[in-house]
Amino acid sequence: MAEEKMRRVFDEFRALSDEILKPDEPKKEKFIQAFKKMLDKEENWTFWLPLLTSLDLCVKCNTCAEACPFYTASGKKPIYHPVYRSDMLRRIYKKYFTLSGKIFGGLVGARDVTEEDINALAESAYRCSVCRRCAYVCPIGVDNGLITREVRKMLYEIGIAPDEIYLKGTLYQKEFGNATKTPAEAFLNTLDFIKEDLEDEKGIEVEIPVDKVGADYLIINNAGDYFAFLDTIIGQVEVLNAAGIDWTYNTPFKNGTNDVVNYGLFFSDKELVDIGKLHLEVVKKLKPKTVVVGECGHAYEAMKFLYKDIFPEWKNVRVISIIELFDELIRTGKIKVDPEKNPQPVTYHDPCKLGRLGGLYEEPRRILKAVCKDFREMQPNREMSVCCGGGGGFAIMHKDDFMTFRMETYGKIKANQIKETGAEVLALACSNCKGQFREIINWHKLDVEWKGIAELVANALVYE
Ligand code: SF4
Ligand code: SF4
Repeated sequence: MAEEKMRRVFDEFRALSDEILKPDEPKKEKFIQAFKKMLDKEENWTFWLPLLTSLDLCVKCNTCAEACPFYTASGKKPIYHPVYRSDMLRRIYKKYFTLSGKIFGGLVGARDVTEEDINALAESAYRCSVCRRCAYVCPIGVDNGLITREVRKMLYEIGIAPDEIYLKGTLYQKEFGNATKTPAEAFLNTLDFIKEDLEDEKGIEVEIPVDKVGADYLIINNAGDYFAFLDTIIGQVEVLNAAGIDWTYNTPFKNGTNDVVNYGLFFSDKELVDIGKLHLEVVKKLKPKTVVVGECGHAYEAMKFLYKDIFPEWKNVRVISIIELFDELIRTGKIKVDPEKNPQPVTYHDPCKLGRLGGLYEEPRRILKAVCKDFREMQPNREMSVCCGGGGGFAIMHKDDFMTFRMETYGKIKANQIKETGAEVLALACSNCKGQFREIINWHKLDVEWKGIAELVANALVYE
């Protein structure tokens, strides 16, 4: 019955399983209470003002619709329109929280919502990758990506969040020091393996400093990279050694993490803060001069832009992306590279969090032009780059046929963009993008291999 209802308002895919969503359970009243909490400045100290502003504005010009890849790829289904979620929130807001709505009702857009609407809103909050392409084109700055996140926060308040980002992504990181549940000893074994691999494969002896106090650079990677994208880490170690700089990794410890991810960013301020505290403890313990975020987009957003507003102690922490560090190492001549060593045509995907949010457009391009012989732009790129479809937590959400949804919407768009470049190598700078593109390449049978930026830089290194 629940499934039938959901299909009526939605489609054949499901981001939230029945177990999580409980579609037959009434939740409207609880949702309205959670919404009320988000409208309280003290409770919603992170995004109270942008939420209110986005609720108040919207001139229905439709500009955002054409910018949303889900909307266009779905054949323009209304449920994927960027204002679908914000319109429903506005109806609730006006009906329950404004005087004019209480007096004039439907005349001022204050209309009630049904239990079915709330279920659809919940599912819809996990059909948007929070890429903010729509916000970039909105003439009055309405941020429908932010609205998605606020809806997810309200859902978290009433006990609805996908297992992949809550249980596995967040609770594991808090309990085990990383979302992969890797103890310090196993992590150190992986580093030993990397040393041996570089010696066996390339005849290079490297040092991998760990838990060094006061290092110039503390590098923190997505812990999943040590399993899923080890070649990126091996390349990173080789480049850092070649540069001869003072750097360190860290091991997990009680109340500290060696995992740069913060999945709380996708659905809950409470979880965002809890994980931020784990990162803060690492910085307090190791006192690095600079924290370097590995190839991970959302962690860059959290560490670079959000933590300084959450933790007073973070205000003086210098945070850069590993992409900025590599760019600096090449520009200052600390490493020498030869583009002839990467002769194949290479293209690059701008991750939403590094590009549209972080403004890192030229750094990766300078690197790729220095280390690759034939760099080709994907279209569109930079500010208008289309999200890979792995953002907002999607890269780790595989249940049921959600993968089909990911691959047949954004996946199809990105597959075509890659084909049009004629590139043989796709350069990626974010773990979530890597997870998504790995699937896209298989699903759409692309004759392309993907590589992390570190791999390409390492491959181009010239030793004197
Ligand atoms: S572009 Fe902005 S103002 Fe226009 S419909 Fe979209 S959210 Fe509303
Ligand atoms: S944030 Fe991205 S996915 Fe979400 S509505 Fe806007 S354009 Fe679409």
